[in-house]
Amino acid sequence: MTIRIYNTLTRKLEEFKPLTAGKMGFYTCGPTVYWNAHIGNMRTFVNSDIIRRVFTENGYDVTHVMNFTDVGHLTSDADDGDDKMEKGAARENLSVWDVAQKYINEFIADADLLNIIRPTHTPRATNYIKEQIELVQKLEELGYTYEIPGDGIYYDVSKFANYGVLGGQSLSEKRGGIRIDDSGKRNSADFAVWKFSPTDVKRQMEWNSPWGVGFPGWHIECSAMSMNLLGEHFDLHVGGQEHAKVHHSNEIAQAEPLVGAPWVSYWMHFEWLMLKDGKMSKSVGTAYTVRDLVERGYDPMAYRYLLLQSHYRQPLEFSFESLDASATGYKNIVRKIADLMNSDDMGELDSGMYNIWHDKLLAPASDNMKTAETLVVVQELLKDSTVNPATKLALFEFIDRLLGLQFMDRAQKLVELEKESAPADIVAMAQQRAEAKTNKDWATADALRAQIDAAGWTVLDSKDGYKIIKKS
Ligand code: AMP
Ligand code: ZN
Repeated sequence: MTIRIYNTLTRKLEEFKPLTAGKMGFYTCGPTVYWNAHIGNMRTFVNSDIIRRVFTENGYDVTHVMNFTDVGHLTSDADDGDDKMEKGAARENLSVWDVAQKYINEFIADADLLNIIRPTHTPRATNYIKEQIELVQKLEELGYTYEIPGDGIYYDVSKFANYGVLGGQSLSEKRGGIRIDDSGKRNSADFAVWKFSPTDVKRQMEWNSPWGVGFPGWHIECSAMSMNLLGEHFDLHVGGQEHAKVHHSNEIAQAEPLVGAPWVSYWMHFEWLMLKDGKMSKSVGTAYTVRDLVERGYDPMAYRYLLLQSHYRQPLEFSFESLDASATGYKNIVRKIADLMNSDDMGELDSGMYNIWHDKLLAPASDNMKTAETLVVVQELLKDSTVNPATKLALFEFIDRLLGLQFMDRAQKLVELEKESAPADIVAMAQQRAEAKTNKDWATADALRAQIDAAGWTVLDSKDGYKIIKKS
């Protein structure tokens, strides 16, 4: 099926055309591992997981790269302020390396809870220092860089005619402010590709380079890792919406002089999860993590379900009321699937019907990831009495692959829970009924069934015996 995506580069909805037939390579700008990722950050990574799933279900062989930024991300995107990693280390009284490992592990745990498929490659910036230095050297040879003594090697954006196209900056925005400060930058949008270590404090992460001891700029990291793992040109690059203007514009400026334009065919940017009164903030305690939600008794899938009911190009306002509503909606679907699993009239898989609904479900998701519309089709499927349980359940296997909502898993667990929780006297009566049936003593079997029914339980006969379920 045709996949359409909104390309930030052209500001148009475009039909996706791969660089290599049948393959799709994409890069997600990953987390800076200096602290916990909050549920807002995780919205971005659920979105990129959906992209992977939609392409996979459309038959593409997908290579997904997501980095861990473990060096070089300063508190200001304008290349000043403290290094986020060094700050994290001071806060926790750990080495920078230990902080990075700790939050990589925690990120993976949270991503697993949200059923995000692990990317094909998850490179760490500190493992690609040599590649980053090589890129800076090439840019230097081509005359794109200059040195600010005592500070670092900077990229001169005025040398790159197309600078800022992705972020839609005006010429004055990108060039403006020349020498408005004493930073030594030639243009306000110039950015560091290599920073020198300070002379007064010893950094924990630093490397030798042709320009002296220091560390890479944040933007050069992603360019080095993406090209190394996906090739010089690749299909798609994604990240949070704030990256279009600075981080990704800088990445294009670094890569295109070296490999030609367009470096990457498509760019997608995800809007943020917000709170009523603004951004999630760690300092005021509103930067909830997935584990916080679990501690409050929520299934992480209720949060994922909440996310997928919105579109990635729209900001989403988070509240516990909306999460409660989403949890109820999610459980309702799980209940209905459990009922299907308990059905004593499964029917056979109807492949004609399966194909029709498969395409109906896949079409909205393939149209710029409209997962909310796919979820509307899910409700229609549940309501359609002309589709038998066997076919519906097979379609839910597909829905789970496409949306990662683990419906089948939760429904299976519900069925098991209800089976297990039948009290001993009901289990005994069900057993006696089964024996009566074996003895063709229909009257006793019927009487026992009625007794079980009156107690609020139902016995369902199935090919491999019977099931006892609580009446809902
Ligand atoms: P960071 O770890 O700060 O580099 O952020 C990791 C990713 O999370 C980036 O791609 C950001 O764009 C994204 N992000 C940050 N805050 C939010 C938010 N509130 N909602 C959605 N994505 C966010
Ligand atoms: Zn990046």
